[in-house]
Order: sequence, then C-alpha cells, then structure tokens
Amino acid sequence: MIIIFLIFGLIIGSFLNAVVYRLNAVESLMERSHCPNCKKMVRWFDNVPLFSFILLSARCRDCGEKISWQYPIVEASTGVIFALIGNYFFDIANFSTWALAAYYLIIFSILMIIFVYDFKYMEIPMLILWLGIGVSLVYFIFSDWQSFHSAGSIFDLRLVSGILGGLIAGGFFYGLAAYSKETWMGYGDAYLGLLAGLVVGWSDIFLAMMASFVIGAFVSVVLIVVSKKTMKSQVPFAPFLICGIFLVIFLPRIFPQLQPYFLLFS
Ligand SMILES: [Zn+2]
Repeated sequence: MIIIFLIFGLIIGSFLNAVVYRLNAVESLMERSHCPNCKKMVRWFDNVPLFSFILLSARCRDCGEKISWQYPIVEASTGVIFALIGNYFFDIANFSTWALAAYYLIIFSILMIIFVYDFKYMEIPMLILWLGIGVSLVYFIFSDWQSFHSAGSIFDLRLVSGILGGLIAGGFFYGLAAYSKETWMGYGDAYLGLLAGLVVGWSDIFLAMMASFVIGAFVSVVLIVVSKKTMKSQVPFAPFLICGIFLVIFLPRIFPQLQPYFLLFS
C-alpha cells in the first residue's frame, strides 16, 4: 500500500513541478512539458519521475541544458510525504480514514507548491493559497458533520479549532509584517499563517510557529556562515512555516514516544 502511495506521490510531484513553472510562466497546464531552454517537447519516456533525471544525467536530451535539481527533489519529497500519509493516516478497511487521507494529500500538494514557489520567487502564489483555505473549510464542514455527536465541546469541532488557529497565526504574522513594514515577513506570509492554523488546529499552531522560527533561525545562521548572505538578506519564510506544519502533523505519528511532549505544549 505504501508503495502505491509513494509512486502516486512521485507522479503528483512531477505535476507540482509543472504547476510551479507554469504559474510563473502563465502557460496552460494542459500543454505537454517542454525544455525551458530549447522548447523541444519532452518525450514521454524522458518524463518518468526521478528515473529520467538519473538516466539523462540531469541534462536535456536535445540541447544538453542542465535540468534543475528542483525536479527530482520535489518528486522524491512528494513521494515520501504521500507514503507517510498512506502509512499513518489511511486504512483501506476503515472508510472514515479516507476523507482525512485525501485532505492531507491535497493540502500537502498545495503546501509543496507554495514551498517551492516562495523559495524560487520570494512570493506566495495567492491563488493556490486560497485554494488550500477553500479545500480546508469544505473538508472541516464535512468532517464535523460526520462526527458532530461525538464532539465534547465546541473546540473539538475541526472548523472552530482551525479558524481559531488560523486567526492566531495569521494575526500574529500580519502584525509582524505591518510592524516591520514587510521587512521581516510579507503579508503573503500572514495568509499562509491562516492556512497553517486551519491545517493543524488551534492546539498545535503554537508548536508549528515555534518550530518554524527555530528552523528559520538555524537555517539563517548557517546561510550567513557558509555563504555571503548577511543579516539583511531576504530569506523566504513560507518554507519554514511549511516545515513546521509537516513536523507537527507527522512527528508524533512517526515517533509516538514524543506524544507527551506535544501534549505539553498544546
Ligand atoms: Zn533542451
């Protein structure tokens, strides 16, 4: 089962690369992929996720132009994330797990696009972000409808928890962006905070935000030490927050012994 999710993730990862490229180039998603340098169509057998990159030794078959490492990295990461979702959140015999697994597959695909786009272009693709917010709200209404009778309090409702978490993170980042006049982070990051809060809920949003600041500080220090970046260099924030979301959702599943610590913070 995990293998199926992994392969599915590799294929979707390849699609997400195309989405990132075409969001920026304003091209139709329906077009066949082509080399950005020589514009020749990519042959179907050169379009196999991961394997083609290795077989072609990272070069275009036609013009020899280097193919970006972004492609295999996004494909492999999407494959691994999908496999994790399939392993920890999906049980084929239990129909009630299907909706959550589907929701996570969609939301992590969206987060992957935002991650790569912000990393490359220092900008958050707002259309994709609103898509994530819309999908979350629809899923929460569906899921609360299913489990309404078993909710102990109003805060157990996914919709309430998500909106509360979204307002906390979105409001906090909005404040930072406004106070720093968009030098620490942009207003786009505030909207991503809103989405992050929706995805992890109010009980986990502090942990996700803390994780993103710790990772961000660590990466910034490493960048300053090993490269010519200075304290003033702009570093995109979205990738850190998305790492925070990922860790908060997956770490307690992968390492159940960590769960008490997670409860401590939430
Ligand atoms: Zn080419």
